[in-house]
Amino acid sequence: MHHLHQAARMHIASVAVSKVGFLFSLMFCGLLLLLIPALQPTARQVDLPQPRPQVKTSVYTLQHNSVIPRVSNSAGGTDHATGLNISSGRFNGTVETELFGTDDYRGTYSEKNSVAVSIPNGQGQILPGSRSRDLLELKDIFIAVKTTRKYHKSRLELLIQTWISHAKEQTYLFSDGDDRELQMRTGVNIINTNCSAAHTRQALCCKMSVEYDKFIESQKKWFCHVDDDNYVILPSLLQLLSSFHHSQDVYLGRPSLDHPIEAAERVKSNGLVSVKFWFATGGAGFCISRGLALKMSPWASLGNFISTAEKIRLPDDCTIGYIIEALLEVKLIHTHLFHSHLENLQKLPTDTVSEQVTLSYGGYENRWNVVSIVGGFSVVEDPTRFKTVHCLLYPDTDWCPKPKPHNKN
Ligand code: UDP
Ligand code: MN
Repeated sequence: MHHLHQAARMHIASVAVSKVGFLFSLMFCGLLLLLIPALQPTARQVDLPQPRPQVKTSVYTLQHNSVIPRVSNSAGGTDHATGLNISSGRFNGTVETELFGTDDYRGTYSEKNSVAVSIPNGQGQILPGSRSRDLLELKDIFIAVKTTRKYHKSRLELLIQTWISHAKEQTYLFSDGDDRELQMRTGVNIINTNCSAAHTRQALCCKMSVEYDKFIESQKKWFCHVDDDNYVILPSLLQLLSSFHHSQDVYLGRPSLDHPIEAAERVKSNGLVSVKFWFATGGAGFCISRGLALKMSPWASLGNFISTAEKIRLPDDCTIGYIIEALLEVKLIHTHLFHSHLENLQKLPTDTVSEQVTLSYGGYENRWNVVSIVGGFSVVEDPTRFKTVHCLLYPDTDWCPKPKPHNKN
């Protein structure tokens, strides 16, 4: 009995010893595991994505300290598509962020060498990238141009000759008819939406619906829509979008109204509910990040856009605002860098023209509402001023007037 007891005690003791040994080896292994990261080389840590700082205030201004189109940098290469110099995967034009502690729509001004965008209160997820991590390239942007058969000659040719020539791969012309001749001759992407060629709400929403689906299919990071009377200043567009991340909820554009639109939303019970939201006017162009575009899918994809538009009976650009602001509760980021002919384009200071993101023109029916810019071509040769703007941005273009060589005699 005693021996048995002794044996049992010895057994317990040996179990205890092996347990202690086991615990020690566990602790040793744990220590080793803890030491592993410390023994690793630290060089790559700078490349790891860093958490972005959260914006605490409601309105912010992005200040671009450099003149956008021709940023010079001896170390970097030039992106020939945009004329923007890029060094080591980052723009050398610094983008500084200034925060304001207000709740209103302050800060939507634009002055020389600075651009302003503002967002209303409560948009915590928008993070102005003071140092954007990924390098955004022109090929990451899907540019949709809305057009119609009758404007292929009078409007599209000018765009193809100018800005589209620097963005052929990612620009898609959404029309209502085929134009093999134009496509073959210029190499642009023309998409026949098979939508009606009428200037009706339904026809325009039909085109927007196809634009949306093609963008989703494209896998590109940003969706930008413009009309066929818009000039897109590609370096400025790239710089603006580089301030954000495509996975954030970003809806950028210019409202044509100074207040949110109020619409009657048709609800299931056959009733009408009033709904107020901001929208970016389509005639000035607007951009949407892929992250946000994906969230729009239930109301925008595969023909759903048309039924969503029917719910509020408003045009395509208002429907976009309705989906984003009213349904998804994401705020429009107001920017004055986009321009339609609804505003007085003459008022745009000449020395800031090349820093804008989009321009437009109003034809004779709008008393030639065009940007005021001199050089390149006369108003008679270039009534829209787009060729003159283009030559200012890309002076090496073969059809741009060359400065006369100085005659020393
Ligand atoms: N548009 C269209 N179908 C039409 C008329 C116009 O798709 O029947 C397009 C046109 O190509 C342009 C946009 O709608 O991209 C706006 O047209 P426009 O500039 O003539 O009118 P606005 O609304 O700007 O006065
Ligand atoms: Mn127009």
